[in-house]
Amino acid sequence: MKIQAPKGTYDLLPNQTILWRHIEAQIHQIFTEYGYDEVRTPMFEYTDLFQRGIGDTTDIVEKEMFTFSDRGERSLTLRPEGTASVVRAFIEHNLANQGSIAKLYYYGPMFRCEAPQAGRFRQFNQFGAEVLGSKDPRVDAEIISLAVNFYRRLGVTDLDVNLNSIGCTECRPLYRQKLIEHLRPKSEKLCPNCQRRLERNPLRLLDCKNESCRRLTEDVPLITTTLCPDCGEHFEKLCKILDSCDIKYKLNPRLVRGFDYYTKTVFEVLAGDLGSQNALCGGGRYDGLVEECGGKPTPGIGFAAGMERLMMVLEARSLTPAVEKRPHLYLAPLGDEQQVIVFSLCIKLREAGWIVETDLQGRSLKAQLKSADKSGTPLVGIVGEDELRNNQILIRKMNTSEQELISIENLAGYLEHFYEK
Ligand SMILES: [Zn+2]
Ligand SMILES: [Zn+2]
Repeated sequence: MKIQAPKGTYDLLPNQTILWRHIEAQIHQIFTEYGYDEVRTPMFEYTDLFQRGIGDTTDIVEKEMFTFSDRGERSLTLRPEGTASVVRAFIEHNLANQGSIAKLYYYGPMFRCEAPQAGRFRQFNQFGAEVLGSKDPRVDAEIISLAVNFYRRLGVTDLDVNLNSIGCTECRPLYRQKLIEHLRPKSEKLCPNCQRRLERNPLRLLDCKNESCRRLTEDVPLITTTLCPDCGEHFEKLCKILDSCDIKYKLNPRLVRGFDYYTKTVFEVLAGDLGSQNALCGGGRYDGLVEECGGKPTPGIGFAAGMERLMMVLEARSLTPAVEKRPHLYLAPLGDEQQVIVFSLCIKLREAGWIVETDLQGRSLKAQLKSADKSGTPLVGIVGEDELRNNQILIRKMNTSEQELISIENLAGYLEHFYEK
């Protein structure tokens, strides 16, 4: 039997890595411009971190984690998201020195044991940011602007930003109670998942994807009507700032997001053609999370964005970059001795910064010229017996088939002149 990549994983092939690297470069670029520093955390953590940092009642912790024991029987889990690890690192390395604000970003693979479907994988890649140490709504606005501008830079401009506030530990319990009371009489008609969650985490019922649950929750009271003065003011300020920097958003009172730890602001960025279930990125404020994970009370906000969905959008819209990797020169040796000379010449030119291709199979001149043509190089250098004897190389311009003999010594100079470097 042929061995294949594990279920829910995929290979990035050479034609895709070009786009992938283009996106990566944009990630590092925009975070640098906005003043964020990169952190890289391990791919696995002790399982407790995710139980505390993501929440016991989330889909992720309930049924999607890759959990295993190390040889000392300690439970480990492949990271299913990035926030918990960044917060753990923030606390462990005391990055909150002198009460300053930490603006961090991350990028890398995450793991969830989900049923694979289009655009959803068991090993997937996310990038995201966490800002720790400020409860100012300008931070919320900065995170949202950064995300929106990132997609705009890549050419995705038909963006929808959904925005909501889900209150704080003061006002959310009142809302939860209202919601439970409203839905309890209908509980038998809810899907099994929602029935189970009704008393524990009723907010999650608002984003259940089941059609009948959606209908049953259509007339629920809205959270924005029960916000405390502090949460109300925070949300109002955020909207005002976003208005002032040309970020269009829709207030979506049903947006609650999947994590237990969010407080106040939650948001999602969607691309026009992906559909409402498929956000490009999402995030929110989590003022209690650092404390939950064992640190000093520290307000925080972050977002996470998926690479795979973004790839799908960019590919579907042909927003792929033209990458210049045509060789400057293709070297074609004819014969054993010539191969050795050409090989060392190749290495020397590459070390000087030239992109040089050569044949590594001992093929005929005809076959080598065909490869050179396919590579898109404008120049081929042919070294046969006569050329080698005279220390020369026959340069052929591909577009005109014009040929000229030059001395091998002068090849670098010839390239510099040809490419005006
Ligand atoms: Zn509140
Ligand atoms: Zn449901």
